[in-house]
Amino acid sequence: MSVLQTLQERSNNTCELCGATEHLSQYTIPPSLNENVANDVLVCKTCLDQIEGNEEMDANHWRCLNDSMWNENVAVQIMAWRMLQRLRSQGWPQDLLDMMYLDDEALALARATGEHEDESSKIVHRDANGTILQAGDSVVLIKDLKVKGSSMVAKQGTAVRRILLDHENAEYIEGKVDGQQIVIITKYVKKI
Ligand SMILES: [Zn+2]
Repeated sequence: MSVLQTLQERSNNTCELCGATEHLSQYTIPPSLNENVANDVLVCKTCLDQIEGNEEMDANHWRCLNDSMWNENVAVQIMAWRMLQRLRSQGWPQDLLDMMYLDDEALALARATGEHEDESSKIVHRDANGTILQAGDSVVLIKDLKVKGSSMVAKQGTAVRRILLDHENAEYIEGKVDGQQIVIITKYVKKI
């Protein structure tokens, strides 16, 4: 059975966060790279758009976390935790977070994308279009880039998969081009 089929079965074909039954897709929680039942959730488009930052957060929509935070699957708990963290300034999400229990391993993964950090101090990486970049995303270079300290030029149009973020600087990401790990400036990439 594929990962998707397993997710569909365990969720009874519903969004594991809000219970919607339409426009469902498999979501691998970053920074996990490989799809795997333990790291994936089935989510609807409404949830996904907000998770990925393509749509504004609608706090009312996320009242659903009141239920889904108790889901038996750790991947669902982690996504619930992250979305509650994003909304915690609203008050009620913080109350739910206080009731939640994640073991050390799950908590470490839940924290990996920095949702628990203060917005003001949080470093957000954005591509040339302003789309938020996350570790594990793939990007394409939108101009030729000279690679520092080498004669190599990374060509416009080159796809860079599984990027890493520079947690000190929102302008830098890292990724492999021609087998070499290089630093890339975010304004010269587009998420794909
Ligand atoms: Zn949903």
